[in-house]
Amino acid sequence: MTSLDDLPIRDDLRGRTPYGAPQKSVPVALNVNENTHPIPEDVAHDIVARVAAAILSLNRYPDREFTALRRALADYLGHDLDIDRIWAANGSNEVLQHILQAFGGPGRSVLGFAPTYSMYGLLASGTGTEWITAGRDDEFELSPETAVAAVREHDPDIVLLCAPNNPTGTPLSLETITAVADAARGIVVVDEAYIEFADPGTASALTLLEGRPRLLVSRTMSKAFAFAGARVGYLAADPAVIDALRLVRLPYHLSALTQAAALGALAHSDEMLAMVGEIRAQRERISTELARLGFHPYRSGSNFVLFGGVDDPHAVFQALLDRGILIREIGLPGCLRVTAGTEAETSAFLEAIAVFAPATA
Ligand code: PMP
Repeated sequence: MTSLDDLPIRDDLRGRTPYGAPQKSVPVALNVNENTHPIPEDVAHDIVARVAAAILSLNRYPDREFTALRRALADYLGHDLDIDRIWAANGSNEVLQHILQAFGGPGRSVLGFAPTYSMYGLLASGTGTEWITAGRDDEFELSPETAVAAVREHDPDIVLLCAPNNPTGTPLSLETITAVADAARGIVVVDEAYIEFADPGTASALTLLEGRPRLLVSRTMSKAFAFAGARVGYLAADPAVIDALRLVRLPYHLSALTQAAALGALAHSDEMLAMVGEIRAQRERISTELARLGFHPYRSGSNFVLFGGVDDPHAVFQALLDRGILIREIGLPGCLRVTAGTEAETSAFLEAIAVFAPATA
């Protein structure tokens, strides 16, 4: 049997482990921050009809410039964005990979603020970019001063700001984003994968794009939009940045089926986003209830909650899994992370976790 070590794999990939969030078939899956509400049936029928029509032309390559999809994404984002400022790919993971391929690479570095999204380090290693992490303030917040000090110290080619941050849920102020954009020499990416779950009135970094050609805002249809399985992420930035990403994408990277499905979902964006308020309410319910039980929930602007005060995270993770409830161990001491589910799923989680409450221990 050949093992990985026997292969002439790149030296910088030796000993690495792939992204590995458990995928298990359980009644209550609250571990990868999906929207756990299914797609409304009438929307699903429209998407099926559009995909069916696209299938009739699958003998041809799809529109390499995914023009109709970029138009729909620009309309959805608003902020007067024209389609020459829009990019998309198979999930925002691929959008981020395109950014690192175009602006990172050997001899270049990317800075993030740990703990943050685990794929950042993997995307860096896959593209041969040096991954640098700086720390956060108390409660995983990130002040302009802390962020700018790290940018000055490391002078990275790319800064990745996760807003709100995964896995902590922490919102990020526009002041911090502006300060980083002002201080950084290179590209600044704001990953807004969870921004639709932010408290009403929260401004997006899209409002900062004008006059900042090196600021990039990435989004995804995987979370609020309930479209994770379709794999559609997108980006707004200066047209020159989009030209840079064209240099590294594979031709026809968005299949005709993906484009048709995404257009169908965007044509029903109100219905697709209808559960966002309800999910936010369940998130608040989780935070309130966990605090009442004596855990330490961190401030969240997303559809998940990180909480501390767990004596033995692995034992609690396993005990919940034994009851069919899958949450996330993220390797932070004393902490676990849970996605806000439907009301019933959230109730199942809260009932199961109550047994481990510090207050009753
Ligand atoms: N950014 C963040 C912060 C995420 O948490 C995720 C998914 N977990 C992604 C990007 C990637 O999502 P997708 O590729 O499904 O768009």
